[in-house]
Amino acid sequence: MLSLAGALSREGIDTELAVESVTDHSIVVTAPDWADFQRLEMSLTDEWTIPLCPVAHCSNHSMRYRGIDRCHTHLPQCDTATLIQMGTWWAQSHSDALAADPARTVGDRAADLLVKAAVHQGSSAELITVLMRTLFVDEADIDEIIWDEAEALDLRHAIGRERLRLNDIARDEARRLRQSTGPCPACGRGPRALPAAPPHPPQYCSPQCASAPAVPHPS
Ligand SMILES: [Zn+2]
Ligand SMILES: [Zn+2]
Repeated sequence: MLSLAGALSREGIDTELAVESVTDHSIVVTAPDWADFQRLEMSLTDEWTIPLCPVAHCSNHSMRYRGIDRCHTHLPQCDTATLIQMGTWWAQSHSDALAADPARTVGDRAADLLVKAAVHQGSSAELITVLMRTLFVDEADIDEIIWDEAEALDLRHAIGRERLRLNDIARDEARRLRQSTGPCPACGRGPRALPAAPPHPPQYCSPQCASAPAVPHPS
């Protein structure tokens, strides 16, 4: 109970709790308007309370990584708008926390996780653009914002390297997905080589198939 009280201490005293499920070992409580977690699992035998993925009835723990609250299964299932919003929040706070120092802003695991999730939605290019713009500044504005030539050059290099790194992550994730998913769920054609990170979910062979309703195929 103490661990639950600790987890709740940051929430208001009028927080409304609901019990979602109970087992012999633990109890899952939810509160729709919590700021930090919407679901918590509390052990009935040991002294621990763990934030769960906010998706109802998901038993996986929240990633709890830099504002990413879904689990590894549900992050890739977020739609593009949600991922873009999550990415914007994360990139803004990450950049603010590091005083927009380009050398320290690059290479964060949260960016990797978000880009991989966006590949599943066919929106990695869109997400990478938003991340780059939020983490750094618009490249077109660099000359107006930064007068020091060396500093401007450092920033351009950081932006270029980070974009390349994230594009590589997107390409590898798209390849991994295509290899692990068999035939196209819409037309049944076998796995095909596709462009680096296609602008549609890579388990489909084409944008047309990605937007077509899935039909069952004999295996
Ligand atoms: Zn989940
Ligand atoms: Zn297809």
